[in-house]
Amino acid sequence: MERTKETIRRCFIIINVIAVGIFVYLIFNENNLTKEKLNEKDKITKEYQVLMNDTSISEKEIEEVNKSIDELEHVDETVKTIKEEVFKLASNVEQKIQKNESKMKIAYLTFDDGPYYNTYKVLNILKENHVKATFFTTNVNGDKCFDNRNYECHKLYKEYAKANHTIANHTYTHGWSRGLYRSTESFMDAVKKQENLVKSETGLITNIVRFPGGSGTPGKTKGAAMKQALYKAGYGWVDWSAQDGDGKGVSSLDEARNIFKKSIDNPIEVILFHDYDQKTTKLLPEFIKYLRDRNYILLPLFYESVMINKK
Ligand SMILES: [Zn+2]
Repeated sequence: MERTKETIRRCFIIINVIAVGIFVYLIFNENNLTKEKLNEKDKITKEYQVLMNDTSISEKEIEEVNKSIDELEHVDETVKTIKEEVFKLASNVEQKIQKNESKMKIAYLTFDDGPYYNTYKVLNILKENHVKATFFTTNVNGDKCFDNRNYECHKLYKEYAKANHTIANHTYTHGWSRGLYRSTESFMDAVKKQENLVKSETGLITNIVRFPGGSGTPGKTKGAAMKQALYKAGYGWVDWSAQDGDGKGVSSLDEARNIFKKSIDNPIEVILFHDYDQKTTKLLPEFIKYLRDRNYILLPLFYESVMINKK
């Protein structure tokens, strides 16, 4: 028993080191390194040196721990811990960006209204480009959603989870014209129903909401009560700061491209897309390159992010 405890303790230390490694890799190896960035890398590396030194574990022991990691029953828990560590570090970077203490830039790609049969195309593009994104899911397409090869949309929940994207909540019904915002109860009911659907498909709990139509849609008074209810239920919410206009039915690729480029100007951007939109799907590789060329790091949203409103 003692040995198991010790092994687990060591695993956590190693996981910390791995998380730092992944994060430094994410931030510094996906973009071109400039002198300024290298200095920043040194700064961050030094900051986490303390953590690394704290390990005081020999190589042989690390080998042993690695073997034990393979034997661990709860592999999902391990992945979860690594993700939590990475998000903690990302949240530190966000705060530095906001205080103007860092020149780093972060973009969160978000896709609303799926799963839809077009979603698997979006997932493939993200995979090819090594991007983790956020999907604000709804059941609005329901059980009727199949593609021409009879691919069931519900199966996509597992695909989101398998690829480690963030699955967020866009309410079960989505229909604000059909009474979604009638009352706090009707709204929270639609949030909970979607939470249950995601949980039954993936075992994961959603904790980020996007109001269909945006947070202003229910009106000021009703909206404030709904935000309170969300907070009490452990949720944060987020709108968006950039987009390509795909939710408003842009007429051409050029128009979508122009709206997108004009909207990117903050060091932290939450970008609104829809995974049903063919224009966005076509332009997505170009958009990813555009952001990376401007030194944006692309991350999935997480509850602790400064972009997630908690009141
Ligand atoms: Zn929507």
